[in-house]
Amino acid sequence: MNFLKRFSVLSVMMLVAVTMMAQELPKVYILATGGTIAGSGSSATKSNYSAGQVAIGTLLDAVPAINDVAYVEGEQVVNIGSQDMSDDVWLVLAKRVNELIASQKVNGIVITHGTDTMEETAFFLSLVTDSNIPIVLVGAMRPSTAISADGPVNLYNAVVTAASPASMGRGVLVCMNGKVYGAADVTKTNTTSVETFQSPNSGALGYIHNGEVFYYHAPDRVGRKFVDHVHEGTLFNEVRTPYFNIDGLKSLPKVGIAYGYSSVEGDVVDMMIDKHYKGIVYAGVGNGNIHKNVFPELEKARKDGIIVVRSSRVPTGATTLDAEVDDNKYEFVASWGLNPQKARILLMLALTKTDDWKTIQKYFNNY
Ligand code: ASP
Repeated sequence: MNFLKRFSVLSVMMLVAVTMMAQELPKVYILATGGTIAGSGSSATKSNYSAGQVAIGTLLDAVPAINDVAYVEGEQVVNIGSQDMSDDVWLVLAKRVNELIASQKVNGIVITHGTDTMEETAFFLSLVTDSNIPIVLVGAMRPSTAISADGPVNLYNAVVTAASPASMGRGVLVCMNGKVYGAADVTKTNTTSVETFQSPNSGALGYIHNGEVFYYHAPDRVGRKFVDHVHEGTLFNEVRTPYFNIDGLKSLPKVGIAYGYSSVEGDVVDMMIDKHYKGIVYAGVGNGNIHKNVFPELEKARKDGIIVVRSSRVPTGATTLDAEVDDNKYEFVASWGLNPQKARILLMLALTKTDDWKTIQKYFNNY
């Protein structure tokens, strides 16, 4: 009898201790959106599979070690392949992220996402959230049914990253294949490899080892502080990371991308003029150069009030202001370090505030 009594007191104490430990763990909230990390295939060795099949609960069950790192809760926002990502889903997702931030109940947020457009969602969120808590995007290159699926370890590493105080104030992050990247610079560079994510201009911010995140450096483009820098004699002192309040927004202005190549013709742009796009990003050759067949159409677009941003199809380097193209003369905007898909996002958000090309150029000067 005595033994039984002591045993039940002991179990209650253990239960209290376990509950207290769980309460002391950082709280990480997972927003699931689909992608290959939630993909399932008919074979463990073949590459054909469908993205966005498995719910977040199942993904978490596959990685029990996560419960040692953080107290994790989550919800499914959508369950799609990220090739189908849209402005509408971005607005829903970002508003949910902002609600979680405002609740002050979470220490970090992890977003599971397909890899195809992960860099875009990360960059979008970096412009419309204003918080020091880590917001970490994660995905997988192999479906959950594959041999050596990379989803479980990536998810674990993402939770480690989101739970760590070392990740505070580093902006929106992408955590893939054991490394951490900043939203503005990261890009998908390989169609199938697990080491596909890279920040070609600035490198990874850090790495995860044995359940701990280590940082080499902070991303440059974080925080709302004024930072002066001089480029070719011009002093840039705008707000470093622009912030756009999306609370009242139901949709985003229409902005499209036209791709440059030899023999390209003006009709790649005409469609967007005819359909009243508000902005056009031209993924030019080299330093954002524009074919002579397209140049007059872009001039026409600008005269019609459309904002034209020059970016580049070249994967590294920046599209610099007034290089081979006299941007000031044509009222074109140079995208600097943003690739065309990220330039489109900044342009859409900038257009929610202004249609003045000079002001819009100032937003881009920060990249
Ligand atoms: N098509 C998938 C997606 O982006 C690819 C992936 O997740 O790796 O959703």
